[in-house]
Amino acid sequence: MVQLFEKAAKIYPRRVAGLFRNLKWAAMIVLLGIYYGAPWLRYDRGPHVPDQAILIDLTGQRGYFFGVEIWPQEVYLLVGVLILAAVGLFFATALLGRVWCGYACPQTVWTDLFVWVERFVQGDRNARKRLDDGPWTIEKVWKKALTHLIWLVIGMVTGGAWVFYFNDAPSLIDGLLHLQLPGAVLVWVGALTLSTYFMAGFARENICKFACPYARFQSAMFDRDTLIISYAHERGEPRGKHKRGDSWEGRGHCIDCDSCVVVCPMGIDIRDGLQFDCISCGLCIDACNTVMEKIMLPRGLIHYDTERNQERRAEDLRTARLPTKGRMRWIRPRTVFYAAIIALVGSLMLGAILLRSETDLTVIHNRSPQYVRLSSGDIRNNYQLKVLNKTHFDRSYEIAVEGIAPKAVEVMAAGDVPVTAVTVPANSVGEFRVQLITDRGAAARNRVTFRLIDTSTGKVAQHASYFVQP
Ligand code: SF4
Ligand code: SF4
Repeated sequence: MVQLFEKAAKIYPRRVAGLFRNLKWAAMIVLLGIYYGAPWLRYDRGPHVPDQAILIDLTGQRGYFFGVEIWPQEVYLLVGVLILAAVGLFFATALLGRVWCGYACPQTVWTDLFVWVERFVQGDRNARKRLDDGPWTIEKVWKKALTHLIWLVIGMVTGGAWVFYFNDAPSLIDGLLHLQLPGAVLVWVGALTLSTYFMAGFARENICKFACPYARFQSAMFDRDTLIISYAHERGEPRGKHKRGDSWEGRGHCIDCDSCVVVCPMGIDIRDGLQFDCISCGLCIDACNTVMEKIMLPRGLIHYDTERNQERRAEDLRTARLPTKGRMRWIRPRTVFYAAIIALVGSLMLGAILLRSETDLTVIHNRSPQYVRLSSGDIRNNYQLKVLNKTHFDRSYEIAVEGIAPKAVEVMAAGDVPVTAVTVPANSVGEFRVQLITDRGAAARNRVTFRLIDTSTGKVAQHASYFVQP
């Protein structure tokens, strides 16, 4: 048998302490706190409206984000959020490398949490390896069972938190207590429980290596000034084992202890140079700094640095000049470009939110027939009006028409019932049919503007259309 593929070795990341590990703990606590806690935040929007601060109400076709309400007609705001998220990611990557992957990506955060559970129940790297390699004893069975049980509970809580974003969280908990949850909720919780369990418990680094497209195209955002994890080759090599009291003369500072490799959640050796698998988590820096402190050498054999600084240092060494201090170039064409797009899209979105109207009017001219000649000789055009009342109060409106001088404006509600006032209940869409009747004018097609005037606030919404006659 010829094996065409090398079997993927299971990775057992070892515990490590240090600055970047602490940053990762802090990021994990904050991000998981936001994810699990946000659906419980309340925001008073007045009567008859949900008071959940962040809610995607699929039944009511509305998105709520604190004071901002997004109607289906305003889906462009969602597009703006997606553009901001994508360009924000490019911007962060151009400056700080794969900081998103290392600290904030859900795959990293949940995997980190699952590894912590594994370590808590089964012990650190060597104990976990021994347990996996050993026979199935009672100890192995209960430790494995407990680990998987906790993973499943975390998966269930994760799926549960997800559905809270689409339903009123306290009502859903009440439904859970009374065993009256909708089928769709159960399906979503089940799917997310299993996907979390599988992705963070088993797939782990393989998602970053083989499934995530971002790992593949991130290099397009890198340049020589992007922060990357670097091994100081010129200082570390030639590497080799070192005993206390041995001279450092003629050798590098790397003692080949493999600490940087065994803590790596991706299972790579950063001394081989920057690799696409590296998620820039900085744990190898913590591991190596701990070793350097123990052997009383300066920290920073592995560190965050830019390619330009590395080249400069190598040049210093070659020309035997004093080492130049590394520096960051924050302002570069690509960072300015990304920042400009973020500023532009952010300003447009802010403007759209601040100038958002309380009422929207849409007018559709009936095309079949385009006009009707009445027995009196007058011409009538029919229109469908949609009035969106985005406020939390019932509203009445007057309709005015500009562009022609109609003899009559007849408004009809559903079922063609004539109405004298255009009234739309709070948070809803009113549909009306309007007939414009006029004497024959000069032009065959006139532009008309429908104006909807809120009788309580005087605010106006308008929509352009046309009037057709023979
Ligand atoms: S932790 Fe530092 S000293 Fe140890 S192998 Fe890695 S680079 Fe070398
Ligand atoms: S090489 Fe270092 S920074 Fe990269 S993934 Fe491994 S531990 Fe994290």
